[in-house]
Amino acid sequence: MSLKRIQPRSRWLPALLVLATVAAGGARLVFLSVQEHADQARRAAEGVAARCANAIESQLAALTTAAARAASARPLPTGQDRFEMGSDGHLAASGASNAANARAIASEWAATTPASSISATPGALLGPLREGSEWLVAARAPLAAGAAPAAARWMVAYTDLDRLFAQAQLARLLGPTYDFALAQHDPGAGARRIFLSSQTQPLGSPATRLIRAPAGFPFASHGALEFQVRPRVGWYPTRTLASDVGLLALVTWLLTFITHDLTQRTQRLQAALGGSRRRLQSAHQQLQREIEQRQALQQSVDHARYHDPFTGLPNRRYFMDQLDRRLRLARGRSGDLGVFLIDIDRFELINETLGHTAGDELMVQAGRRFQKVASAEGSVLARWGGDQFALLVPGISAGETVRSLAEELQTALQEPFDLRRHRLSVTARVGLTTIDAGPHRAEDVMREADVALSVAKRQEASNWVAYTPAMGGDVANMVSLEADLHVALERRELKLLYQPIVDLQGGGAVGAEALLRWRHPVEGVLRPDRFLSIAEDAGLIVPITRWTVRRVCRLAGEWRQRLPAGTSFFLSVNLSAVALRDPELDDYVAELLRETATPPEMLKFELTEGGLISNVAGAREMLERLRSTGVQLMLDDFGTGYSSLNYLQLFPFDYVKIDRPLVSDGDSQRGVASLASAMVQLASSLGLTPIAEVVESQATADALAEMGCHFGQGNFFCAPVEAEEALNCLSGGTPAERSAHPEAYTQWEDDSPTLVLPAGSITEENGPP
Ligand code: C2E
Ligand code: CA
Ligand code: CA
Repeated sequence: MSLKRIQPRSRWLPALLVLATVAAGGARLVFLSVQEHADQARRAAEGVAARCANAIESQLAALTTAAARAASARPLPTGQDRFEMGSDGHLAASGASNAANARAIASEWAATTPASSISATPGALLGPLREGSEWLVAARAPLAAGAAPAAARWMVAYTDLDRLFAQAQLARLLGPTYDFALAQHDPGAGARRIFLSSQTQPLGSPATRLIRAPAGFPFASHGALEFQVRPRVGWYPTRTLASDVGLLALVTWLLTFITHDLTQRTQRLQAALGGSRRRLQSAHQQLQREIEQRQALQQSVDHARYHDPFTGLPNRRYFMDQLDRRLRLARGRSGDLGVFLIDIDRFELINETLGHTAGDELMVQAGRRFQKVASAEGSVLARWGGDQFALLVPGISAGETVRSLAEELQTALQEPFDLRRHRLSVTARVGLTTIDAGPHRAEDVMREADVALSVAKRQEASNWVAYTPAMGGDVANMVSLEADLHVALERRELKLLYQPIVDLQGGGAVGAEALLRWRHPVEGVLRPDRFLSIAEDAGLIVPITRWTVRRVCRLAGEWRQRLPAGTSFFLSVNLSAVALRDPELDDYVAELLRETATPPEMLKFELTEGGLISNVAGAREMLERLRSTGVQLMLDDFGTGYSSLNYLQLFPFDYVKIDRPLVSDGDSQRGVASLASAMVQLASSLGLTPIAEVVESQATADALAEMGCHFGQGNFFCAPVEAEEALNCLSGGTPAERSAHPEAYTQWEDDSPTLVLPAGSITEENGPP
């Protein structure tokens, strides 16, 4: 509740209630107290009145006694305040000192007392009656018999009220706090006569006490005397009332004030509490929000930590965690696991040609398709790397299940992918391994799958390969091959064979392609596919390339001298794309050409599309620079990769080597022939010279010649041979001669297990560059 919302009424209501209650209760108390006080005062006043009346009565009794005593005395005493009186009211001669008083009393007496009643009341009291400034009271007693006729003579004693009061010590009895009055009620007149009073006004509701006449001396006059007493301050003393009311008001005010103050404090406290509660609530809500945000953040961090951002699939870390967990769970229990590594073929190429977005999209779509295949309970599909997925499938063992799953993974890719504006078919290689119960480490399992994958990549027969322990040796081989390759150049184990390129229109050899061989001391002669990728990975491709170019240039110089003057020929060198990253390759080539006095047109370089596409800008720049040295360039293996027209035009090629343009297998021959023809025409129309590669038969050679392809290369003409034999070809040996004199064209046996060359055949050119 806010302070604003506290209504003034509600703020005042408790105080007003307290005010009303306390005022009403207090007023009642004050009223009762005043009443009680008045009652007490009245009782006290009545006591005082009684005592005063008693005192007055005693004085009256004394007066009557004085009168009676005087009446019985002989001789009759005379004195100041007594006199003798006849029954008719005349005064006897014995005379009072104050004759006026005596006369007044006697006449009053005569007036008030009828003669008939005189004898009935021998003694009587009279008064008070006024004489001058005094009020007198008199008592008469009949004179004793014998002194005079009894009924006719009286002795009267009198006194004035002041004296009587003084003798009665009324001042002492009354004290300073009471007013008094001596009054007589006259029932006939219905009014009171006041004889003496301490106040000028009649006393309001006084405490009254009748004054009784002494025995035998009734009051002669009508009406009884009464003594009235009233406290000076009244029955309800204003001061007490005022102080009570004041106290009440003070208490009321205090209580009201306290209540109001308490109410306000309480309300302020409530408001403050409300505020605190609201602040606490909002702090709590804030905290709640922060906790939720933190949790969401933690979740997204966790998600990011364990997921691939593009495909949304679990990542390598997650996969390894899961694999590790499953392996630990499976330990000692039966329950086989299959682990598949799936590698999308040519992914790099797709990235380079269609862009990384298309590459990512391909992985997303491929991931979705694999997920459908890997729907078994507990399966985990993860993105393993750039173009690889890893799949963990529980509960399968080597055999039919694994085979069918591997094939399903391949089938999932059969339908072409729609990537932005492109429709693309892709294939994948799968390496897999299965684990039965028993201790295994996740790293070892993945290494097995990886070994199987690398075998799958190298072989043509099947797209998937299951790991066998024998493969471990292959991989170990690759590692030791790399070590051996480092010293191969020094040990002069590399050599070049040359495969002639012939004129299909009947002419002889026009040139030769240099093909690399490694005479491995243990493995025998190895072909480039066995060691080139190792050389590329090990950073040995640049020295090997330089060595090849130097070797070829020197050979060209040698051949020029040995061939008839004016014979034109060329030697072509295969350039790996990685070799193009040698920034001084063009300078090196130019220097060699100068050094060996080789005309640049005698040297040509062959490059495959795939290598160029992975680094278009860099490759193009280096190719331009090479070409500016005067050497010509050949696009190798056209027809096997993308065979993209764009690339033909992007790079400064002069020749196109069409790979296996014709395969003579019956039905499809016609289609293949028309495709080969189209490629030949395409090359020609772009101003490039086509060379048909891997020509293996006469029919192919003839068909190519018919199509207008000028040059050919292949085992039909001549397999890769030693330099000397290649020279023979150049100097006039034709395919026809070759078949006529096969001994002259002895094919260099590639696959001899070991080949130890005679020491003399190793020239200084075989050494390191
Ligand atoms: P490539 O440039 O396409 O070379 C032609 C390959 O086809 C050679 O295999 C050759 O022996 C083979 N061949 C030629 N005619 C026939 C035929 O009628 N039938 C069959 N079945 N095969 C034939 P090789 O020598 O094993 O070379 C393989 C690849 O290695 C070459 O393919 C080339 O790309 C690469 N290469 C060879 N030498 C070098 C080199 O010095 N440097 C670089 N960077 N790569 C090289
Ligand atoms: Ca080649
Ligand atoms: Ca080729």
